[in-house]
Amino acid sequence: MEIKNRIEELKSLLNKYSYEYYVLDSPSVTDYEFDRLMKELIKLENEYPEYKTQDSPTQRVGGEVSEKFEKVRHDIPMLSLDNVFSYDELRDFDKKIKKAVNRYTFTVDLKIDGLSVSIKYENGYYKRAATRGNGILGEDITENVKTIKSIPLKIDFDEPLEVRGEIFLSKKNFNRINEEKLRYNEEPFKNPRNAAAGSIRQLDPKIVAKRNLDVFVYYGFGLDNQNHFEIIQELKKIGFKVNDNTVFCQDIEEVIKFIERVKDFKNQLDYEIDGVVIKVNELDLYNEIGYTSKFPKWATAFKFPAEEVETVLEAIDFQIGRTGVVKPVAKLKPVMISGSLVSRATLHNEDFINDRDIHIKDYVVVRKAGEIIPEVLRVVKERRTGKEQAFEMIKNCPMCGTELIRNTSEADYYCVNPNCEAKHLEGLIHFASREAYNIDGLGEAILTEFYNDGYIRNIADIFKLENHRNELIKKEGFGEKSIDNLLKAIEISKSNNLDKLLFGLGIRHVGAKTAKVLAQNHHNLFDFLDVSIEELGSIKDIGEATSNSVYQYFHKQEMIDMLNELEALGVNTIYEDDRISNSGIFTDKTFVITGTLEGYSRNEAKAIIERFGGNVSSAVSNKTDFVLVGDSPGSKYDKAISLGVKTINEAEFVDMIKNG
Ligand code: NAD
Repeated sequence: MEIKNRIEELKSLLNKYSYEYYVLDSPSVTDYEFDRLMKELIKLENEYPEYKTQDSPTQRVGGEVSEKFEKVRHDIPMLSLDNVFSYDELRDFDKKIKKAVNRYTFTVDLKIDGLSVSIKYENGYYKRAATRGNGILGEDITENVKTIKSIPLKIDFDEPLEVRGEIFLSKKNFNRINEEKLRYNEEPFKNPRNAAAGSIRQLDPKIVAKRNLDVFVYYGFGLDNQNHFEIIQELKKIGFKVNDNTVFCQDIEEVIKFIERVKDFKNQLDYEIDGVVIKVNELDLYNEIGYTSKFPKWATAFKFPAEEVETVLEAIDFQIGRTGVVKPVAKLKPVMISGSLVSRATLHNEDFINDRDIHIKDYVVVRKAGEIIPEVLRVVKERRTGKEQAFEMIKNCPMCGTELIRNTSEADYYCVNPNCEAKHLEGLIHFASREAYNIDGLGEAILTEFYNDGYIRNIADIFKLENHRNELIKKEGFGEKSIDNLLKAIEISKSNNLDKLLFGLGIRHVGAKTAKVLAQNHHNLFDFLDVSIEELGSIKDIGEATSNSVYQYFHKQEMIDMLNELEALGVNTIYEDDRISNSGIFTDKTFVITGTLEGYSRNEAKAIIERFGGNVSSAVSNKTDFVLVGDSPGSKYDKAISLGVKTINEAEFVDMIKNG
């Protein structure tokens, strides 16, 4: 009876984790933990076949098919791969093949940590792309995959062709997306695979295009070749991007030698791999070697364990966020993980520490998945000496001393003092940040300095900074030009759309997306003073916690006073719908930027042009409307002159913005 319960428990856990992983793209446990539970279930089901059911996770290829996309039926099922974790297991895989067939060789590919895609071509044209889904039914992602630049839309091959490969994100893009997510107060992706899956399953291809996904192709159906390694070479010839590290191996010992080499270079790759894939080359042997319902028996994945290292947890610090949340952070004895030096790791909250029984001075196992903030996984209890100290959550804010509060429904503690300096400064840094109010030049360092000097103590002070111009230009390290540029950037920011302001205010639970939803529903900032909690809650995508916190924010007298002051200072408080496409002064105008601008970086100028409806191209052509010319312009300037395209300098550009 107990065994039966454990099997049921494992099934329900694995189903829950699969749902989080494949549908929500947000796993709550590590792959290692998932694989461990799966192995336990397989073992129990083998020992007690009477408890094995058809719907067991051991019988299904992982993914679910989301309702968001059209369903696609795969002509040839898209199976998963069996996996092995040691050379002994790998040699067992080889022995089983040897029992079934005689002569065979292998192709070994890197196992790219992404998600698989099937792409079909007809008469040489890109026709349709689909996710693996549950192996039989996938999701139609034709439009989204089209945004991937390495996928050819036309090939020199007229027969029907299906290629399969892995959609992935480079480490660089993965970091960029996560930094952006953190900025927007959104949950970062846990690893590059989930990031790639989450990106390709966006409903808007424009968003997909911005994610810079890529594909390595590793299967082709419809070619004449009967050898897998040759198929890969053929696909490359046709114009597909295949991974250049793919090798041909005579036997399993050669495969093992290659795996040893991969271990040496894998950290230097610009994309994550979680192992290698070993496939038999001879296609005519596949049926003889056979399949299970989940995977082919002629291939397997050798998985690398995620890199984990032991180090000493020296101390636990506390970090205060702008919402007042107080987070424990581990200070570690510095240690190298996956090629970078790690000295801090997140501990999330009091419960996380207590559940894992983490003490100060403990040896802990730390893991870094992709480039995500490192995590403390567990304590190495065998290494305890008795000198470790139990953790105790602080009772008071380390900055202002106010007693911390923990809501019953949350694991986090908060400093609720509205005047806490740490919160204030973090709030101002957030307000001025690129993703919020985007005030050029008002970064963390300058804000901290002006905060400590007393020039900027609250948001309204930012817009009163010009009153201090004469003192500021005398400050060391500043000078007239930099202060004037800063004041100009502050002036320009006042015309930001309402959602930027709402996000910048730092209202609890209001990230960038929520701010936009709020602004789209109530176009005037001051409307929020009269909107009831029920009305807020009835807005699509606004939950109970958000409507409560928005309501409370707009019913505090000090906040109302500040918002009135902002309006009096000229800050825009109105939401202009579709401002980019409809009312932009640069609508449909194409700009090219050349040379160094004084007041803006290239990206900032680009952002301004786009904000007013225009777009920026990298090359001058007859279609260019304006070439914005800075100092020491390049050949684009000459090209503009020769084509007769209008050139403008920076002063004229600023004039256009100001006077429409
Ligand atoms: P898998 O990732 O172990 O291997 C199969 C996949 O590898 C293929 O479908 C393909 O997409 C990919 N692949 C990459 N490079 C390849 C190459 N060169 N050739 C062929 N295929 C290549 O299997 P899966 O079914 O996609 O996922 C199962 C794994 O996902 C589990 O082992 C587990 O680690 C993880 N998982 C984790 C959780 C969690 O909660 N953490 C939940 C579910 C699944």
